[in-house]
Amino acid sequence: MDFKEILKAAGVVGAGGAGFPSYAKLAEGADTLVVNGAECEPLLYTDYVLLKRELSCVLEGINATIEYAHIPLALLCVKEHTAEKLKWKEGQKLSERILVKILPNVYPMGDEISLIYQATGRVVKAGNLPITSGVIVYNVETLYNIGRAVRYSTPVTMKWLTVGGNIDTPIVVKVPIGTPVEALFARYGITVPEGNSVLDGGPSMGKVIDADTAVITKTTKGLLILPDSTPAMQSKFIDAKKSIARAETACCQCTRCTDMCPRALLGYPLEPHKMVRTAMGAAVVMPQMVLSATLCCGCGVCETLACCQGISPKAVIDQYKQLLAKNRLRFVGTQEVEAAPEREYRMIPSEKWETALGVQKYDKLAVYKGEDEEYSRVEILLRSHIGAPSVPCVNTGERVKKGDKIAESADGLSLPQFASIGGVVRLENDRIVIEKR
Ligand code: SF4
Ligand code: SF4
Repeated sequence: MDFKEILKAAGVVGAGGAGFPSYAKLAEGADTLVVNGAECEPLLYTDYVLLKRELSCVLEGINATIEYAHIPLALLCVKEHTAEKLKWKEGQKLSERILVKILPNVYPMGDEISLIYQATGRVVKAGNLPITSGVIVYNVETLYNIGRAVRYSTPVTMKWLTVGGNIDTPIVVKVPIGTPVEALFARYGITVPEGNSVLDGGPSMGKVIDADTAVITKTTKGLLILPDSTPAMQSKFIDAKKSIARAETACCQCTRCTDMCPRALLGYPLEPHKMVRTAMGAAVVMPQMVLSATLCCGCGVCETLACCQGISPKAVIDQYKQLLAKNRLRFVGTQEVEAAPEREYRMIPSEKWETALGVQKYDKLAVYKGEDEEYSRVEILLRSHIGAPSVPCVNTGERVKKGDKIAESADGLSLPQFASIGGVVRLENDRIVIEKR
């Protein structure tokens, strides 16, 4: 089977991001595979544990990818603190064409565009894909899944994730996709204290979920329990209307949000202070300026650290982003851009970022709990990747084994789905429920 077909048949998605089907990223013309092991967000240790325990499978995935796409070099990128724990050195050869690249302990480093610049010195033209700069980026867990698909022909049915935050001992565990969060917490005796909420993802960019109904998906990198009073959580509960009203009245146009914006520091024409000025009605809304909202990676630096007036430029930009997405509009630059010389001095040390988010006291190395399949029910979402949702190929009442295909890939960009436990199927609107009976 063709390599792209293997990836598609195994249902491999970008495990660290929005769930882009991995087969669709493969293209000719890359000279570097950048492996994202940056673990950008505080409190997450999933990639570190994966690299420590399953390096050979990750390397197998990398080798298969660079072989297929004729890529001469792969850079396995990890932050200094991860390299120290793994005892890796800069430039260390992990295999013939795979080298270690050590990233500074700063935020945001897992953002694809920042990562590519840090690893290769190239700035991807604003709004363009990494392949236009000769780079393909895959996350560590994506390459682990590719390695397993190549080695054992197994589809993606399990997910590695960190469970951390305001709990005694953070853990990393490998569980079936579709595991209810409630069941996972019950199994490890984890409770959500009064006045705390649960995030799917890191403290900066994770989303608040309802732990009673949410399930683990192919992109769940971590579940964090955090007090609602932390700045990290308060930014999640920002009321967009109030935030825009505050921007209208309180912004002094100091430009600090733009001066600290990681994308602006890479030379991108993104100026959050001007976006806020449009919200103030103090600037004419120029189409190019609005379009540049799509260059924002959502890192939250402008709202959490930069602005001393309690304004969220990100919230203003998010409004523009929603409008642009509805109209299928985005910024696509044609000019080469250069990182600003001051970027080096304005990068945010990870510790400073954790302090700004109010999460530093929860940063404890997670303990690996192994592969845990002791769940009696899973709910597998048909829309768990970017593109068209999968189409069920089983019926209610049918019995399936772990690894059986339960949904076909739809036409166009899409992926199939597989049973992550054995049991009896029930079809619901947007998901396939499997119960052990
Ligand atoms: S940092 Fe705050 S006050 Fe300064 S320009 Fe940005 S939004 Fe306005
Ligand atoms: S969230 Fe703010 S700081 Fe981050 S990229 Fe967007 S505008 Fe820049």
